[in-house]
Amino acid sequence: MKTVLFHGPSGSGKDTQVDLLVKKYEFENIGTGAMFRAMYKEGDIEAFKAYQYWSKGQFVPDELTYSMLQKWVKRFDSEKHWAFVSVVRSLGQIELFDNLLESCERSLDHFVHFTLSEEMAIERMSLRKICPYCDTTYHQKYKLEKVEGYCDKCGTKLIQREDDQPDKMRIRLKEYNDSIAQILKVYRERGVLIEIDASPTIEEINQELIQKMGL
Ligand SMILES: [Zn+2]
Repeated sequence: MKTVLFHGPSGSGKDTQVDLLVKKYEFENIGTGAMFRAMYKEGDIEAFKAYQYWSKGQFVPDELTYSMLQKWVKRFDSEKHWAFVSVVRSLGQIELFDNLLESCERSLDHFVHFTLSEEMAIERMSLRKICPYCDTTYHQKYKLEKVEGYCDKCGTKLIQREDDQPDKMRIRLKEYNDSIAQILKVYRERGVLIEIDASPTIEEINQELIQKMGL
């Protein structure tokens, strides 16, 4: 069973690709957004602490996030492929992630990074809408919602994020590229890095991904 970590800037379509792997190959999708929401609803004490940060759009401290992840991963089927999404955002989190996998008796098969040019990112983001409740993204050109303006999954009214505007997008993309470069270096040296050009269509990207992961 594969264990894969996915990363990419906003607009690279990584969530769409992970959704496809869930449908086609029954991957378990393991990300912190869903974890924070679910554990908060259940009244988890650490989730209440985490809420102080994520409700304000701040990053939750590493130790807290990974302490929650240790509990969260137990809910997933260990006989299936696991897709972690954006759970290593700093060099310090690499060791925490290694420890998490070790405690699950798994090892990382691939670090998949979706790369996207600045122009393409901006074109994508300007046509993007997002569900403020479940974080599902929609796109006027690539991924339309079924009922215009409302989330397919939960029915919440879709919004356009203020930071999806071109100037803010450029700043965010630069910050992303700066922070991910060192992380990519580590995983490249470990021989698990797969880089995917995120500019073709969803289907083309998906085919390249499946082929490179050897599924
Ligand atoms: Zn939704």
